[in-house]
Amino acid sequence: MTIQYCPMCAAPLVMRADAAEGGKVRLACPDGHWTHWDNPLPVLAALVELEGRILLARNAAWPEKMFALITGFMERGETPEQGVARELKEETNLDAGDIKLIGVYEFIRKNELIIAYHVKASGEIRLSEELVDYRLVAPEKLRPWPSGTGYAMADWMRARGLPVEFTDLPIQSPSRNNGIP
Ligand SMILES: [Zn+2]
Repeated sequence: MTIQYCPMCAAPLVMRADAAEGGKVRLACPDGHWTHWDNPLPVLAALVELEGRILLARNAAWPEKMFALITGFMERGETPEQGVARELKEETNLDAGDIKLIGVYEFIRKNELIIAYHVKASGEIRLSEELVDYRLVAPEKLRPWPSGTGYAMADWMRARGLPVEFTDLPIQSPSRNNGIP
């Protein structure tokens, strides 16, 4: 969605150079009421471990063979760890136990910033409607993809002394803007 009008006075927004920031051009109200900062949005990602194996899930909107980490956005008022536990419960019915930060990764293509966690989970898997399939993969058999959450997976593997071999699977379907983060 592109914002076109000032939310204060409804004037059409214009591209304006911001003198205070080295002339960076931003969409803004011509009368200075409002600026569309367009800052990156944090997205949470969970590398979920269930009884020693890693859970990969396939989103209904993705092509077959594309499996990835559990991801979601934060809600106001929750910590990232609470957000990860909530998303995990909503999308898989699993309960989060130990939650540890893997790292923070760029996802410039979608103007997002990935905060990736390793989550030890327990319970029975019941997928939400967003997800259509899942796999449980032994850590040494993981093949990360060369993009945001794939780099998190690779770092997690390296920290355990596992060899990392990236997959060459296409990471984004060309007709949609909903590829794997
Ligand atoms: Zn205005």
